[in-house]
Order: sequence, then C-alpha cells, then structure tokens
Amino acid sequence: MTTVGGIVGEFFDLKREADADLLAMQCGDFYEFFDEDAETVAEELDLNVSQKSSHGSSYPMAGVPVADLTPYLTALVERGYRVAVADQYETDDGHAREVTRVVTPGTLLETGDAAAQYLAAVVRDGERYGLAFADVTTGQFHVTSCSGSEGLLTELYRFDPVELLPGPSLRADDALLERLRERTDATLTLHTAEAFAPGRARHRLREHFGAETLESVGLDGEAAVQAAGAVLSYVEETGVGVLASMTRLRTHGSGDHVELDATTQRNLELTETMQGDRGGSLLETLDHTVTSAGRRLLGEWLTRPRRARDELERRQAAVAALAEAAMARERIRETLDGSYDLERLAARAASGSANARDLRAASETLAALPTLQTLVSETDRLADSALAETLARPDCDAADRLANELDGALVEDPPGTITQGGLIHRGHDDELDAIVERHEEALSWIETLAEREKRAHGLTHLSVDRNRTDGYYIQVGNSEADAVPEGYERIKSLKNSERFTTAELKEREREVLRLEERRFERERELFERLRERVAGDAALLQAVGRALAEVDVFVSLALHAVGNDWCRPALTEDGQLAIEGGRHPVVERTTEFVPNDIRMDDERRFLIVTGPNMSGKSTYMRQAALITLLAQVGSFVPARQATVGLVDGIYTRVGALDELAGGRSTFMVEMQELSNILHSATERSLVVLDEVGRGTATYDGISIAWAATEYLHNTVRAKTLFATHYHELTTLAEHLSGVENVHVAVDETDGDVTFLRTVREGATNRSYGVHVADLAGVPEPVVERSGDVLEKLREEKAIEARGGDSEPVQAVFDLGSGQFRGDSAGDADTDSQESAPSGEPANELRPEERDVLEALSRLELAETPPLEVVQQVQSLQERLGDEPG
Ligand code: ADP
Ligand code: MG
Repeated sequence: MTTVGGIVGEFFDLKREADADLLAMQCGDFYEFFDEDAETVAEELDLNVSQKSSHGSSYPMAGVPVADLTPYLTALVERGYRVAVADQYETDDGHAREVTRVVTPGTLLETGDAAAQYLAAVVRDGERYGLAFADVTTGQFHVTSCSGSEGLLTELYRFDPVELLPGPSLRADDALLERLRERTDATLTLHTAEAFAPGRARHRLREHFGAETLESVGLDGEAAVQAAGAVLSYVEETGVGVLASMTRLRTHGSGDHVELDATTQRNLELTETMQGDRGGSLLETLDHTVTSAGRRLLGEWLTRPRRARDELERRQAAVAALAEAAMARERIRETLDGSYDLERLAARAASGSANARDLRAASETLAALPTLQTLVSETDRLADSALAETLARPDCDAADRLANELDGALVEDPPGTITQGGLIHRGHDDELDAIVERHEEALSWIETLAEREKRAHGLTHLSVDRNRTDGYYIQVGNSEADAVPEGYERIKSLKNSERFTTAELKEREREVLRLEERRFERERELFERLRERVAGDAALLQAVGRALAEVDVFVSLALHAVGNDWCRPALTEDGQLAIEGGRHPVVERTTEFVPNDIRMDDERRFLIVTGPNMSGKSTYMRQAALITLLAQVGSFVPARQATVGLVDGIYTRVGALDELAGGRSTFMVEMQELSNILHSATERSLVVLDEVGRGTATYDGISIAWAATEYLHNTVRAKTLFATHYHELTTLAEHLSGVENVHVAVDETDGDVTFLRTVREGATNRSYGVHVADLAGVPEPVVERSGDVLEKLREEKAIEARGGDSEPVQAVFDLGSGQFRGDSAGDADTDSQESAPSGEPANELRPEERDVLEALSRLELAETPPLEVVQQVQSLQERLGDEPG
C-alpha cells in the first residue's frame, strides 16, 4: 500500500500511534472520522458518510460538530469502543494535531448514569489477588485484596466495574479470563505491563497519595499496590485529567464488612434481580433518595454491610431520629432535592470540563450544608443525633468560604459556555470591571447613535445594527438614502434600504470588538482560576458530597421504615436471630404478606424448613437473610420486632433445579458453591441453603444434604436455614442438638390445598407429592394406591441415624435390608424404581448393588469433605450402571 498524504494520511498516522478502536480527529469546527472508522461510526450513530479525496484516492468520511462531540463519544464508548480524540491546536506556521485523550468505558467522564463507574485492575500473587477500583467520575479510589478466584469474583461483583485491566500474570490464564468475561460485563483492556511492575507502582502510589497515606492505610500485599499503581497510570495515560480529584485511598480489610459472595449478592437480588433488572431489587425498593450521590451510597451500603456494632447503631440512631421527625425530614429532603453531585464536580473541575453552571450549582449545594445544620440543630429530636455528627464532619468553614467565593464571583444564571463572557459578577475583579465599563461605554455610544443621527440630520428611517458580515452599520430607508450627510460611506444596497458606515463608527466598532475580546478573555481567565481553586478543594467537595449523600440515605431509610411499618432491630454479639412478624422487604410491597416469626440462637442454630412446593420456604429464608443484612446496613427491618446477632458473612445457595431458569443448572456449580460455603462460613455466619442437593438423583442428593447438615452443625456451627424436600432430613433434629424442624403450614380442607404462609414448629407430617398427583387429576385408584405405598415405605424407616450429641455424630443409611430401594418418602420428583414396590419391598440384590451398598455404609461422612462425598457417590452410581437406584 502506498503511503497516504494529506489530512487522511495524518489521520492514519495518529491512529497508528493511538491505542484505540476509533479516532476522532479535529479538523476546524468538526471532528472527523475517516476510512473504516467513518463507516463504523456512521453505522453505530446513524451519521452520513461522504467521500474525501486525497492524493488521487477517495476515503469515506463522517464528522460531528466540535460542540456535539460529547454525546457521540459517550454513545460510542458505551457501546464498548475505545475512542481516541486528536485535537487541533495553533502553531506559528498554521496548526497541528495530537491525540489528547483516549476515552474508554472506565475513563468516560461524561456519563449520563448516576451509578458508580469503576475502572478496575487485578493482579495475582499466588492464591491471592490484589484489586484496585477507581471511579473517574467521582474520584473514589478503593484498594483491596482477597484470596481465591471465588473471592475475586465476589469483589468484582460488588464493584461491578465497566473496564478491567488484568495484570501481566493473569493474561496467560485463559480459564480465568474466560470466567471474568462470563461473570462480569467489564471490557477487558491490556494496559502496558510496566505499569504493573511493583517498584514503579509503589512509587506512583506514594507520589500520588503521599508516603504517609500509603503507610497508614497499611496496604497488605504487593499485588494490591501493583493494581493500584496500574490504575493510576492508566487514568493518567488516557488523559482524562482527573487524577487531582483522586484524593483518598480507601482500603477494605476483610474484617470490616459482612462477607457476601457473588452468588449471595445475586440470590438476594440486592441491586438487580436474578433476571438482571434493577426494578424489583432491594435497592430499587428501598430507594427514596433525591440525589444521585445518595443513590450511589445506598447501593454501596447494601452491597457492603458492616460488622461494627457502634457504626451500625450510629446509623440506626440517625434513621430513628428522622423516622420520628416527619416535618424536619421533609424539609431536609426538599433542601437536598436537586442538589448537585459534588463528588462528580470534583472530577469535572480537575479535568477542566466543569462550566460556570456547574460551579454555580455547586455553590448552591455547598450552601445546603449550613441550611441543613440549622434545620437539624433546631429540631429537638435531631439536634444531638448522629445526623448532626454527619453534617459536622466536613470542614464547614472551608465549605462556607468556597461557597461564598463562588457566589461572589459567578453571576446568578451563567451561560453553558465559558468563552462568551457573561460569567463573572461586577465588583469581583477590578481589571474586569474597568474593561466592562469601557466596553459598555463604547456600546452605549453605538446604541444611542441612531437617535443622535436622526436628530442631527432629520432622518426618520434610520437604525443602527450589527451582523456577522457587515459588523456595525447605519441603515437608512431608500426614500432618505440620498439625504445622508457627508462622511457616510455606503457599504451595501438592499432592496428597501442602504447600509452605511462612518469613520467614527468604524473606530468605535474596533474598540468594542477589542474590549469584548479582552472582556471574554478576562472572564475566562477568572473562571479558570476559580475552577482550579475548586479542583484544589476536591477533598472538601468530596467530604461535603459524602455527608449530604449520607443524610439523603438516612432520610430515605427513615422514609421507607415509616411508610412500611419497619422496626429498629436490637443488635447483639451472639448467635441470636429473633424475628417477630417478619416480612420479605420486596415481596411485601406487591403481596398481601403473611408475617412470620423466626427464632434462632446458639442452641437452636439449624432450622430445617419443610413444606410443599410454593408454600413459601424460599421466601421465608430469604427474608431471614435480608433482615439480617438490613440490620447490618444500619437500616430498620420489615418486622414487628427483631433482635439480630451480628454476623460476619451471609451465604445463600439455591439448589440447581430451582435455578434452571437461570441457565446455571449444572450440579457441579451447585457443589462448588456448597463447598465454598463449607470452607468459608464460620460460627458467626448465616447460611441459607435452598434445596441444595436437589440437582442430582435422590440417593446422592440426600447423602450430600445429610452430610452437609452434619458438617455445618458439628464443625462450622453457623446459623443455618435449610429448606429441603428430603423429608428424611427432618429426623436429623432428633439426633443433632442444634437442629430443629419448622414447616410452612397449609390447609387441606376438602382436598384443596390452601397456602397459609405461616411457619410453624415441627416437620411436615406428610409428603405432598401424592396430593399434587391427586390435584393434577391422576385417576383415583392410582392416587389411593400410591397413598398406601407411601404409608408402607414410611413404616420401613428408610433412614436411621445413630449417635448422640456428645460424640461426633455419624449418620448411616441403614441399608442392610435393602429396603431403602423403595423410594424416599415420596416427593413429587422421585426417580422411577427398578421394581415397583408392591407392598413388599424387593429383597433380591444384584452383586454390584451389594458392593455399592457396602461401600456406602463404610463411607465416613463426618470425616470426608463434601466434594469427595460427591465424587465417591458419583462413582458408586456409575458402578450401578444406568439403572437408577
Ligand atoms: P417455595 O420455596 O416453598 O416453593 P416460595 O418461597 O417460592 O415457595 O413462595 C411461593 C410464592 O408464595 C411466592 O410467589 C411468594 O411471593 C409467595 N409467598 C411466600 N411467602 C409468603 C408470605 N409469607 N405471604 C404471602 N405470600 C408469600
Ligand atoms: Mg423454593
């Protein structure tokens, strides 16, 4: 290919050096895309393509006006393109162009979305991962580390980054990259490997945040430092210009927050539903915030509940006070409403993209701080609440000074552009005032010129005006055009009039233009100084923004609590969970909800929840998890009364069958997740298992459920709720001291099942499979016969559990007689049996069946890790061949 010259050649050169998918190159008043880029952009954004001839060839070309670049850029980046922007600048001999920015999903400043927009970097160090997250739109910067790929996915799920920079060692790990692609929506970007180098990264961090910060936050692990350094370098390299707004490095130790792994966050539908919708999520339900920063913070709180009781009680106190102070609450809300996103302003000021309207709005928002303080201090209930403390946290004097300064400098309603003047108050700057005075003097000479000329020369059809081509002119109607005085110089003839100028007008015009230019320039200069001053106060803006956001969240939580009859939970440090009249926070919004009690403590730490399909088991358990979570956010909870023992982690798993719709139905996934819980949960955790073990055939399903129960009860000792359709598990309550049965009651008068939604003590005393068969219209004799068979099987006592509470409990399937081959106390989804029971269970066993049974009875469930149990059971199953059972 021959080299291309001219403008297209320049485009190709710049494109080559810019590491981007597309290049927008400024050519005068337009940003142009050429060649393939033009076609891509035209197709994505519905632009017209024209042809540009250059040195004998013709290239597709598409352009957008300079002033309109932002929305186009945003649209392209949101569609996943990296777009380089080359700006044109004046030089001594004409102009030149260079790439000034590369806009990527994680460095897009002009997002229209209020949600946080994180750029992430991940570095692996053996089994551990270091992570850094930066939000360029707000200057938030978080660093954390975690262990194992499960931990990694959890953090990624929590921050939900839009762009991800994998460290050098991760790039070779195809399996992990694949998982990242699958489990996150982030664009993966390969940032230069040097940026991740430990020495360089540490140096960069130290330079940016200061050596002391780096020491005091105690970044654990080199990997986290590397990730943070790489993020900083990337932000710098893409040229978004917001580094100055990244004022604070926040680290998350694992001790501060409630562990919520990715699966749990998903199951509990914290910020989006399992289907991926925001509507119907906990966040959407709870959100009554009136600012975007408030909404962001609420989302952060919900996905990152806390463990520290004092902080939670501080939040509770604020919510409680606001719940009682209805009037003040409304006024606070009105004050906050429409307030400016100060965190975002800090970034926009630092990058130089904030305009006078932004600063004006910021000054009004800063002024909300003292207004709120007064409001709070004048309301008895609020005066000494945590709310006052929140509002006192930022440096209020500094905020006041900044607000006054902005207020004193900027006019009330400034224009959206900073180059056309009209920004700065009179009285703010002497130099500007002097220019303005002379400018206005000159203008007023021109404005009164028409009157003077009419009077002096007896002309009636005379006016003075200005346009782009002619500048200022005197226009005289044709009837009087010949009567103009000497010194009038004709510049243009129109249909009904003539245009003139005079030497003096020309002189005044030059003066007006000169002064106008100086005025605009001076205003712009003053404005930019002001903006830099604001950027220098980024930390202050963030602190005020944060305080206002927190107040917004408190008000939102109080409003929801009052509107939905929620109560303030008592927080304890033991294993209690005592809920009276508890509800599911989301379901109660759309359903006539039947409240339920939950009672758990160290002695009663494992509840087996039974009940027919659709009776409300899953809802009951999620409700327990959500009430615990809300309590650890500092919120009130949907209950008449609640005592919540603080937990260190919440783990929920839904059995594979129940998740079929989610397309994640593999039994392997279910077992991986179970294994993860068994490894991670502690005595202080809350575990919710919903039909776990269901994703496989009855025998291994039940053995896994059984073994997992024993392990959780004896070894992990976590507070656990376990819904199961394996009726057999209910016998565990007799043998394990901490296990109790509860069931969701149904009413069966006249053969109709009515769901009562009420949870009662004890196990269900029957299985509903036969009943469902009846309801489904299976012929009478079959229903009756299956009822008989079921009774028979029950009597056979398929499962025996031996051992007491004091010694480790070992559960064995009492299979010597082979009678367990009759199905487990029939649920609807049983396996078909080899030999249909005819009242007498079959006694003849095939030799391989004997072997398998023997192996099974030798299996030390209490001592075998669950995954191994799965594998062994699987291989036993294989030995039985395809025959079920
Ligand atoms: P299961 O897990 O037992 O199959 P679910 O928990 O999925 O049952 O609940 C089935 C349906 O019953 C859901 O639509 C849910 O909204 C409703 N439901 C559950 N619990 C209650 C309750 N306490 N009050 C009112 N409706 C409920
Ligand atoms: Mg369920």
